[in-house]
Amino acid sequence: MQEKYTSFNHLQWALESGQDEILNEVPQNRFSNTQSIVKNADLSLLTGNVSLSENKSLFNVKPGEEIANAAKTLFELREAFISFEGCALKNTAMNLVYGDGNAEADVMLIGEAPGADEDREGKPFVGLSGQLLDKMIHSIGLSRSEVYVTNILPWRPPGNRQPTPGEIGACLPFVKRHIELVKPRILVLVGGTSAKTLLSRTEGIMRLRGRWFNYQADYSGDSIPAIPILHPAFLLRAAGQKANAWKDMVAIRKKMKGLEVY
Ligand code: URA
Repeated sequence: MQEKYTSFNHLQWALESGQDEILNEVPQNRFSNTQSIVKNADLSLLTGNVSLSENKSLFNVKPGEEIANAAKTLFELREAFISFEGCALKNTAMNLVYGDGNAEADVMLIGEAPGADEDREGKPFVGLSGQLLDKMIHSIGLSRSEVYVTNILPWRPPGNRQPTPGEIGACLPFVKRHIELVKPRILVLVGGTSAKTLLSRTEGIMRLRGRWFNYQADYSGDSIPAIPILHPAFLLRAAGQKANAWKDMVAIRKKMKGLEVY
């Protein structure tokens, strides 16, 4: 028997497909511009066997790496992000969520992607998980204004779904440049997506957390001690992991002392 299509079913379908907020009274087709997005997309990241110059002539591409590395300041990098057309998440997000905190900080934290609260405010880690992250930062004697916080992705994936490898790859040159411009002495990789992406590792966060790695910056050549930690959104669901989270924060504090940071 065919299921009756009710308003409730429709709402449920909308929620499951990531439409969890009402932004306007009238719908907007944010994909009407898809042609130019595809045309300008950073296809070099998706096509391993086509050289950059071929890519450029074929698709009129300005690769994310070229745009990001041309930015000499955090302000320029933000502007570059705003004009970047290589990631379609931009079309469904309300705001670019760039960075927050102290641009001169010695400790830089990198999360996964903005959620609904961050998307609305245009600032990373302002929702519930952000409040827990602030407590974790306080536990090592720092405040939000003494660290720098950003994400792997600056746009919210609809319905907070997991970012795809294509989305991560398209935005990666920007996060790498972000690190080079902030020049932190310690990197804290918040959650599995951040840790696996920036350390090029395949293990899960439970294996990576609490261990020190060297993050090697491609462009500047800097080598920065980096530690993966459990994501506060995960800790909110798994209170039993708080002891591990605490151990990781103690390890960061110890490293700060060793490097005479602050
Ligand atoms: N989770 C993240 O990884 N980043 C945010 O900014 C918010 C939630």
